Amino acid sequence: MTIAVCIKCGQRKFGAFTLCERCSFEPSNVLELAKSIYLSDHNFPMDQLDAFALTIAVGEPVEYDPIALTIISAPISQEQYYEKSRDFSGQLPCMRCGVTFRAQDRDAICPDCEQLLNCPISMCNSCMLAFDGAVKFCSLCGQRINTAGSVSPIVLAQTAAFHARLLKSNQKILSSSEKLNAAQNRLSAFDKERFELELDILVLYATILVLRDVASSRTYEVVSRVALQIFCDSFLLYGLSPAESQARIQRYVESFDEYDKGLLENANQRMLGLAIIAGTKLFPHEDRPELVFDLVILIGAYIKYSKELLFKKFES
Ligand SMILES: [Zn+2]
Ligand SMILES: [Zn+2]
Ligand SMILES: [Zn+2]
Repeated sequence: MTIAVCIKCGQRKFGAFTLCERCSFEPSNVLELAKSIYLSDHNFPMDQLDAFALTIAVGEPVEYDPIALTIISAPISQEQYYEKSRDFSGQLPCMRCGVTFRAQDRDAICPDCEQLLNCPISMCNSCMLAFDGAVKFCSLCGQRINTAGSVSPIVLAQTAAFHARLLKSNQKILSSSEKLNAAQNRLSAFDKERFELELDILVLYATILVLRDVASSRTYEVVSRVALQIFCDSFLLYGLSPAESQARIQRYVESFDEYDKGLLENANQRMLGLAIIAGTKLFPHEDRPELVFDLVILIGAYIKYSKELLFKKFES
């Protein structure tokens, strides 16, 4: 039986979706349902749930991670999509690719997409490489690979999106450069807002870029597409309209393209290529050659940390 905390009053209850005995609140929309699963023993030990309960009881806000909530809410959104989109004969357009298919088991995603998203990936933690398929032994070092961890492109995309949020919110990484700190302090209010969005994009790009070197190009492409979709879904979940979410994710896609170009143009010094583009986007009004060296180090740090997180995550 799931033990959960009422997201309105903090009362402990059985079942995440049940009615609260104390305040009569019953979660109904996707965000409320996702928050209710988040604050359950599926995600936290009892002492931490008690701490959340206390926070809510004294009227303080709980800091929900938007990406975690989006990942949690995916099955609920798919269920709702299925109910809304199927026709009388049980056919519906795939939630991912739009191709019409006949749902077998209340699925919202077509069999082709399902296969692409869930094909097994084997991770060698000592070589830090990801192989397509369920491989028993690493072809490079011969070490046995623990396939029980069932890693797939969808799991990698969720992990990358989650790590990007984690790394972006880590102020220590950014503030380790005095020059970047000073430049950040000189930004106008308008540029500051733009900077925050561009940094979100850069960190996500760097987090996924790790896979370009350690996984197949197919995996890299699927993971980047799905990770962007997760970010787009998180904007929707937090109340942006579909058009607004699409417009914002378009910014991500455009910046990703520019970063790709930066990498290609400087094939021998990829970090430099990336840093030059990042400089134009983060600090449009600064003397950027001054900052490029520090940006190389910053991007290098994001890549290093995300690679470590990725492989630690899958340690057996
Ligand atoms: Zn309650
Ligand atoms: Zn599909
Ligand atoms: Zn290996």
